[in-house]
Order: sequence, then C-alpha cells, then structure tokens
Amino acid sequence: MLIFNRQAALSDHLKSVSTPNTTIGFVPTMGALHKGHLSLLEESLQNNDLTVISIFVNPTQFNNAEDLEKYPRTLESDVEKIKKLHPGIVVFAPSVEDIYEGKTVSQHFNYDGLENQMEGKFRTGHFDGVGTIVKRLFEIVKPTNAYFGEKDFQQLQIVKKMAQKQQLPVNVIGCPIFREANGLAMSSRNERLTNKERQDAAVIYQTLKTAKTKFGTETAKAVADWVQETFKNIPGFELEYFEIADEDTLEPLEQKNTNKHYRAFIAVFVNKIRLIDTISLN
Ligand code: AMP
Repeated sequence: MLIFNRQAALSDHLKSVSTPNTTIGFVPTMGALHKGHLSLLEESLQNNDLTVISIFVNPTQFNNAEDLEKYPRTLESDVEKIKKLHPGIVVFAPSVEDIYEGKTVSQHFNYDGLENQMEGKFRTGHFDGVGTIVKRLFEIVKPTNAYFGEKDFQQLQIVKKMAQKQQLPVNVIGCPIFREANGLAMSSRNERLTNKERQDAAVIYQTLKTAKTKFGTETAKAVADWVQETFKNIPGFELEYFEIADEDTLEPLEQKNTNKHYRAFIAVFVNKIRLIDTISLN
C-alpha cells in the first residue's frame, strides 16, 4: 500500500500514474476512521480509477485547544482498515509542517453567508480553517470527485461554495450519514465517550426524528422549544444549538415555503465532547 507523508511525493506519484482521462476520487478525513469514512471510500472506489484518502488533523479548523489536543490519532489502525477495504487506495498523511510550511494560519473566505450560521457562530474561524485545508488538498490531489459526509452538512455546502467561487475543477459529492446501531451518527469523537454515554447519546438522533415528525404539524419555533425542553431534562447533556434551516442558504426558517428544502441541525455537549447531527425534514 502506498502511504505518502509529503505533498511533493504524492503529486509526483499521481502525475506518474495518471493520463488525461484518469479519474481521481478523493476523501479528506482527520483519521480515527470509522464505517462512515469507509462508506465515502467505497463510493469513491466505485466511481473513479484512483482513490486517495488524506488523514490530517488540521489545526487551523479547531477553535478549542483541548479538542485539538484530545482528537484521536490512530494512523496505524486507520491504515489497516484502508488496506482491508482496498490495498490500491493511496494514503496521504502529511505533517502540519509539510502542509503549512511554518505558517499555520488560515486564509479568509467569503462563502456568501453560509459561514455565519450554526457551526460558524459557535466555532469562530472554523470554516476559514476548513476552506484553507480543503483548497490546499484539492490543489495537491487535483481530484475529479471529492466525497464529503452529510453529517457535516454545513461543511459540505461550504466546500461546494468554495470550489465554485475558486473555480476549482472538482465535483463535490455529498454522502449519507452512517449511524451506529442505536442511531448515533458515527464520529471519531464518539471514541472519547464512555460506553454509557455512547448508549445515552442515541437520544440525539431520536430527538431529531421526533422533531421531524413534529415539523409536519407545528411551527419551527414550537419544535425548537420542545427540543430545548427535552435536553434540559437529560443530565450530562448540554444543548448548544438546535436550528431548522433552509438547506441551500442555511438561514433559519422563518416562514415555511413548500418549494424549499429544510433540515434540522443540532450540536450537543456530552460532558465535554461536542457531537453534531442533522436530518432532512422533507
Ligand atoms: P472527519 O474525519 O470527521 O473530518 O470526517 C471526514 C469526512 O467523513 C467528512 O466529509 C465527514 O462529513 C465524513 N463523515 C464523518 N462522519 C460520518 C458519518 N457518520 N457518515 C458519513 N460520513 C461521515
């Protein structure tokens, strides 16, 4: 299996094995791989000649030093999982130095307001960090298709906007959320939960599903109030936000319009671990 730690070596390799018609599928990740990540790789394997995965815990997208420090790093077992799925997948696992060349700072992006909602409000600078790393990785890998999970739906919309505005020749493709048996969205951060917390965290998706049902007959405000109340009564869980928003603009819903697609978004702290999830309301 090929594992590259330096961008120059990866670029040289991809150039040497590509023809003008070669399609490259790309899955950017921060590692601690789970079945959600593997489902993105499967989608890429099915639709491209070559598949590249990056494993890089990107410091500029973290607004919380403890979250960055405690983020799980499990490169060896990640590589085993990738090899088992398909040994032809190319792994790119660079150092911070190789990517940022001594200047670990973000570029500033304008995503037409997508960045001012939800994660953007609560994680200052997060989407500048995401745009910076994804643009960098797109320039290095030059993918035909890039796969992102709908679990980070705001990130997916932001990456699509960034690629369009920067005129990067890549198709950004959204993939469905992979869940644990109890409904909890798979996440590398789940590894930091105790077994009990992991079981109890099923309430997050259960709440989203009930919110979806309620949205059929109730206003967005009534649904949001119900979610707030629900989390007030769960010890150890702290709701950061619950929002019903337009899928395209990510602006909070004010008046239901039958032509639009809506989605509910949630961020919850389980003790100090921050989990997010989302559900389509259409
Ligand atoms: P991360 O390593 O958390 O940055 O995630 C890398 C990619 O995997 C992102 O596009 C995520 O949206 C996606 N992803 C993370 N969790 C899941 C999941 N449970 N189902 C599908 N995709 C996911």
